[in-house]
Parts: sequence; C-alpha cells; structure tokens
Amino acid sequence: MKNSFDIAVFDGDGIGPEITRPTIDILGKLAAQSTYELSFTDCPAGATHYAQTGESLPEASMDVARKSDAILLSAMGLPSVRYDDGTEISPQIEIRKALTLFAGVRPVRIFPGQRTPLNMPEGREVDFVLIRESTEGLFYSQGSGEVTQDEARETLLITRDISEKLFKFAFKLAADRKSKRIGPGRVTCVDKANVFRAFAFFREIFDGIAKDFPDLVADHAYVDATALWMVQKPWDFDVLVTENMFGDILSDLGAGLMGGLGVAPSADIGLDNAVFQPCHGSAPDIAGMGKANPMAMILSGAMMLDWLGTKHNNAAMMKDGARLRKAVEDVIAYGDGLTPDLGGTGSTSSLCLAILKELAV
Ligand code: NAD
Repeated sequence: MKNSFDIAVFDGDGIGPEITRPTIDILGKLAAQSTYELSFTDCPAGATHYAQTGESLPEASMDVARKSDAILLSAMGLPSVRYDDGTEISPQIEIRKALTLFAGVRPVRIFPGQRTPLNMPEGREVDFVLIRESTEGLFYSQGSGEVTQDEARETLLITRDISEKLFKFAFKLAADRKSKRIGPGRVTCVDKANVFRAFAFFREIFDGIAKDFPDLVADHAYVDATALWMVQKPWDFDVLVTENMFGDILSDLGAGLMGGLGVAPSADIGLDNAVFQPCHGSAPDIAGMGKANPMAMILSGAMMLDWLGTKHNNAAMMKDGARLRKAVEDVIAYGDGLTPDLGGTGSTSSLCLAILKELAV
C-alpha cells in the first residue's frame, strides 16, 4: 500500500492563494495525525503569472503536475488579462486536455441546515453527481475557432474513445453509490439528440455501454428539460453525464442549488491523473478582502483524499476524506463563522478556524 503522496499545487489567481493556503494547512494537519504523508509542490501558472512572464502554463509546472499523485488547483484567469484574440488565460482547461481528464465530477448535495433557494418538500434529499466531459465537446476548438468580419465558427467534437471512457466512469460511479446506498443506481445521459447528429452519436455510445451494466438503470434527458428538473425535482437524479459545455452550465446551476459556488467542489479525473478544484473562478471582485469562502476548495481536498485512498487502497485517507466533509457539513449546519456568501459575517480565516475546531486537529 502506498503511503506517501506528492501533490502538485496551482494556487492560481484572485482568491486562489487565499483559499489554497488554509486547505493545505488542514490537509497537512490531517496527514500529520494519521499514517500517510502528503508533500506539496507549488506550480506557478495562471493569468498573473502570464502578465508577469508571458507564460500561462510553464512546462516545468506541467512536468510536476504530470509526475504528481494528484493535483490541487484553486482557480485561474482574470477578466483583465487576455490573449490578443480576446479570450482569457485558462491553464486549468489546458491541463484537463493535456492529461486527458475526461470526467469532470461535480457532486450536488444539500446537507441539513444548508442554505438553498429550493423549497425542499419534507423528507426529500438532494444528492446527485453531474459528470461533465472535460476534454472535448464544444471546448474542443478553444483558441482555434474561425472568426471573420461576418461570421464565427466553433467546432464541437465527440469521440467514441472518450465517450466510452466517460460512460464507463459514470456507470461505475452509479454502481458504487448504489452499493453504498447513496443512490438507486441510475445514469441519465443528458444531450440534445433531438436536434444534433453529434448528440445522437453520443446517445448511441451511451446505450452501448449501458448494456455492460444490466443491474443499473440507464435513461436519457434533453439538456433544456434537465435544467428545468434540476430546479423542480433535483431529488430524482442520481448520476447525470453530459457534454463539456452543457456540463459547464449545469454545474453552476447545481452550485446555485447548494447555496452558491463557495460550497461546490469538483474533480477532473482521467485514467492516470486527477485535478481537484472548486467549481468557482478566481472571484476578482472579492480578492484580497478576506471574504472568500474556502469550503469548495476544502471539499475538493476531501474528494482528493477519497480518490487517492480508493486508488491506493489506503483506508486512513478515505476516512479523513469523510471526516473532512462531515466537519464542513457541521460548520454549515451550526452556522459557525460563515462567510458573507452564506449569509454570515465571518471571514476566510474564521471559517477555517471553525473547520479546524470541528476536526480537532
Ligand atoms: P467566479 O466563480 O470567479 O465568481 C462568480 C461570483 O461568485 C462572484 O460574485 C464571486 O465573488 C462569487 N464567488 C466565487 N467563488 C467564491 C467563493 N469561494 N467565496 C465567495 N464568493 C465566491 O466567476 P467569474 O466572475 O465569472 O470569473 C472570474 C474569473 O475566474 C474569470 O477570469 C474566469 O475566466 C475565471 N474562471 C476560472 C475558473 C477555473 O479556474 N476553474 C472557473 C470559472 C471562472
């Protein structure tokens, strides 16, 4: 069993460093009390780095990321820093493509006491996972779309190879949730197969993979109806799997259901590597004010412990992943030290102190 893990850290732009520091502190304290070791290596990259050096994702940082056991990333990009074509610096998307991190895992959970705009009927629970394909789809032609004076074209790519990997991942996740009694064992393919041939192709591949999982339910939904149902009856979902752009938009809707981006974690997982990062961006409007909610980043750290623990059969790490998630849930439920995005008057540091107190580390 592997016991010692190298973590590549991209602390990013805007609020990135403010939420990365306490996350590493908490993860380090958990490891120090347990039987596994974590060592963290800083990887310069992002919009600020680009503005200073002309490089957005140095090869040396990519090298560290490639060789690491896992990658922890806050958020990158600043609206004020752009390439000549008008698009933003976004190394987080380049990393997903370079390491083939096809499965963007976005859990949507509403824990007891959590603020939500939903009117939750008695006895209902929201706990589903949105899987966003993260290497192709409409993001395929990023940076190479054709723009003339009169028209603009971008290309959407769906490949059989990546779609098969994506759907296998989704069905295995649903099987795991079913075995733990978290979900009923249902995977919904979210597409627009009524209009586009590419999505009919996506759906056909989904149906092919579904045959290998006869104990699970496979169904389909159009993306527009899914947006409606995410608001009207999100408790009906288990695992949703979709194209990159659809997933990008639906995952912010999922974050909205959970009370905001500050509590929405994510992971981008491939066959060998994985990045763990909050769903939100660099939030330049609150950078440097001490108001950033670190929970999404800390919960992404918990997902990293789950993933490393499962991959390396390390029970202590899996236990700490669950412990960290529970500590965050308890702090939300007690309303202790909450940041303004959650209706509190606390700060990044008061919230981290509350989580540390809950963990007793
Ligand atoms: P954003 O997610 O940064 O912010 C949207 C809103 O949510 C803002 O009002 C912000 O203050 C708030 N918010 C976000 N995270 C928060 C947190 N942890 N605590 C409290 N409030 C929080 O989205 P944006 O404003 O559209 O983008 C800002 C920059 O981030 C852009 O340059 C964008 O390209 C980049 N971005 C990066 C990623 C990524 O690295 N994965 C994702 C999205 C956006």
